[in-house]
Amino acid sequence: MFTSIAGRSVVVTGGSRGIGKGIASVFAKAGARVLISGRDEGAAKATAEEIGASYVVADVARKADCERVAATANERHGGIDVLCANAGIFPDARLADMTEEDIDLVLGTNLKGTILTVQACLPLLASSGRGRVILTSSITGPITGYPGWTHYGASKAGQLGFMRTAAIELAASGITVNAILPGNIVTEGMESLGEDYAGMIAAIPMRRLGTVDEIGYAALFLATDEAGYITGQTIVVDGGQVLPESPDLAG
Ligand code: NAP
Repeated sequence: MFTSIAGRSVVVTGGSRGIGKGIASVFAKAGARVLISGRDEGAAKATAEEIGASYVVADVARKADCERVAATANERHGGIDVLCANAGIFPDARLADMTEEDIDLVLGTNLKGTILTVQACLPLLASSGRGRVILTSSITGPITGYPGWTHYGASKAGQLGFMRTAAIELAASGITVNAILPGNIVTEGMESLGEDYAGMIAAIPMRRLGTVDEIGYAALFLATDEAGYITGQTIVVDGGQVLPESPDLAG
């Protein structure tokens, strides 16, 4: 059996809906003290009440907000043991039409936001003595491409570049830094894209989209004491989506 993580302080950015909500909910069910963040107060409050977490309104693209998230976790839960840097956006724009603002928004949220979040939580993660950083990256960028998402793919691949050096720098403080690469997961954000789910499912050997809980349980594993020797690594959770060499091999 894994050692219980009950009572540990867990921060999940972008925990108000989608994958972040799934991660936060899995940790809350495991008895952790969870703080979620998001920009929309109504959504964060409602989710916090629903899953038994606490919330703070913050934008990961702002350094002062990230510092406030860390300070809030310290005040309410006495530190930070696990940081799930999950907040992210995926607006689409073809490269030929992409504006500088589009690029700044996506990289500022997904990549700079990840760095600022980890930076702000570092002293508390180090004090924990068993700090865990779990990034929500994606298969898009690190492994695959998707038209309309050059900036998004760059941000998600960039998170892995960040992770590998952060893992080296933070190892001496007992902090591990790993990333989960989800495939197509049913979330509010995904639904807002209005994509053809049937087309996606046809490319997935497991013949279904993933659930937010399935990302949550991968995060829970990386947060355990037993995963303490794993750092700078990725776990793909995609129902086998990246495996087929051609569409007719998807099963
Ligand atoms: P979602 O349903 O749109 O949820 C995104 C969450 O992030 C919300 O809680 C949102 O709350 C928060 N957020 C967005 N921008 C923020 C900011 N600047 N500061 C703080 N919070 C912010 O999206 P999702 O599908 O769950 O995606 C979550 C993560 O998984 C992202 O990093 C995404 O790249 C990654 N991912 C998703 C999929 C998928 O299939 N769904 C696949 C691969 C990777 P507010 O809007 O209130 O701020």
